[in-house]
Amino acid sequence: MRISILYLFLLLTACSTKQQADLIIHHANVYTVDSAFTTVEAFAVKDGKIIATGKSDDILNQYSGKEMVDAKGMAIYPGLIDAHAHFVGYGQSLFAVDLFGCTSMDDVVERVKKFSLAHPDEKWIKGRGWDQNKFPGKAYPSNDTLNTLFPTTPVLLERVDGHAAIANAKALELASVMPGQKLTGGEIETKNGKLTGILIDNAVDLVASKIPPPSKADYEKWLLAAQQKCFTQGLTTITDCGLNYRDVEMIDALQKEGKLNMRLYVMLSDDEENFKRYIDKGPYKTDKLYVKGIKVYADGALGSRGACLLQPYNDKAGWYGFLLRDKKHYDSLAAALANTEFQMCTHAIGDSANREILNIYNKYLKGKNDKRWRIEHAQVINPNDFALFGNTSVVPSVQPTHATSDMYWAAERLGNERIKGAYAYKQLLQQNGWLPLGTDFPVEDISPFKTFLAAVYRRDAKGWPETGFQTENALTKEEAIKGMTIWAAKADFLEKETGSIEAGKKADFIILDKDLMKVDEKDVLATKVIATYSGGKKVY
Ligand SMILES: [Zn+2]
Repeated sequence: MRISILYLFLLLTACSTKQQADLIIHHANVYTVDSAFTTVEAFAVKDGKIIATGKSDDILNQYSGKEMVDAKGMAIYPGLIDAHAHFVGYGQSLFAVDLFGCTSMDDVVERVKKFSLAHPDEKWIKGRGWDQNKFPGKAYPSNDTLNTLFPTTPVLLERVDGHAAIANAKALELASVMPGQKLTGGEIETKNGKLTGILIDNAVDLVASKIPPPSKADYEKWLLAAQQKCFTQGLTTITDCGLNYRDVEMIDALQKEGKLNMRLYVMLSDDEENFKRYIDKGPYKTDKLYVKGIKVYADGALGSRGACLLQPYNDKAGWYGFLLRDKKHYDSLAAALANTEFQMCTHAIGDSANREILNIYNKYLKGKNDKRWRIEHAQVINPNDFALFGNTSVVPSVQPTHATSDMYWAAERLGNERIKGAYAYKQLLQQNGWLPLGTDFPVEDISPFKTFLAAVYRRDAKGWPETGFQTENALTKEEAIKGMTIWAAKADFLEKETGSIEAGKKADFIILDKDLMKVDEKDVLATKVIATYSGGKKVY
């Protein structure tokens, strides 16, 4: 009798000394992604933060949770971070007709019809991606069917390159476009005295300028839709590369209203108006938003031969591509930003663009430093230039699915020798010992699992090429996971807050049905996110 009373007493005191947590996750296989890549079984969350990690028994003995989740041995990783994407652009694209790959005008019309049925509230129908080179006869289409189907709703569909568009009669009427009308830097196609709807270059703006500027409700619609898709994929932080102050104001407002839960690291576009509002005030930071980057474009893309190369293109004699601005622009911007807390992030694809920017960075950063200036894409690097990253701690920010998308034609542009320095992620990783990974969505798919597949196996979703593309530059599974979590956080100056499951950090984590560290290649893309948590709250 005495013994059992003593036992009861001990049990009661043990219970009363348990610390209260909001959430306990236990019996899981938790990849903390701490510096030793430790795994644990359990962790406790309070006020949106992780307060303890360890063995299930220890955590359950020490803490009592308002909510308890038995993960039944499933794999848990930190919330995934995309180090280079376009979140606002992606949201917009979800409310426009995707016309990429259309093989006829009938095909275009079919997609527009489907879109309008799914989005009956859209005042304007916008679309992008058609290319008449894929249509029978390769001639520009006309707007006849669009006029019949949409007599009262304006429709504007941009060509794949954005340099031409087709508008329906309603849109042309709203813009007061007349048959035979002339303008500088553009063309309005007229046949037999009638408008065909085809607008070239500046003529597109005549109609595009009539689309009402986005309201706050538009932003809400775009960003919440984008957020939902991202949470489904386990993404809890997105780096948006190139926004204007108005985009940032809308994001900030929606986050403060509790509607937008996605964490965002923002690079502001290289624009006077943005600089006026931010540079003197310094970086802007809240719980979910950090505005600290400046996005600059050095050159274009390899596919359209806009990337700036040191030697001519392999498939266009005498053509080097070009820098988008005068070198002085990049130099003076770097000089100005070197005295601020802002991070310079420059898009550079060609080996010449990379060399120019690396030299400018080296000039102002002067040796090892912690300013984390970035080169976005770092796609084609001359063998002599890799060291320019490490010398001044320049961060290469890469997108593994670009390698597996471009590998089909990249050697045609670059030749078999120069391509060895392209998509060279392992060599870039060796420069600083860490490498952030992203997707560049909506240019590529948002899926971080595709990033993992491309980074580790250097093959695409079709399993091509069998031997892998330049596999000497493959990353290990551990490196790929770090690239999508703690290293991506570091590239955004957020590594003290997120990117790993450690006490003191925000409780951003995901539960997966398969363990990425152990899955076979064929199961990578079949991996499902069971749940996504941001700040300790289940958001998917
Ligand atoms: Zn981008």
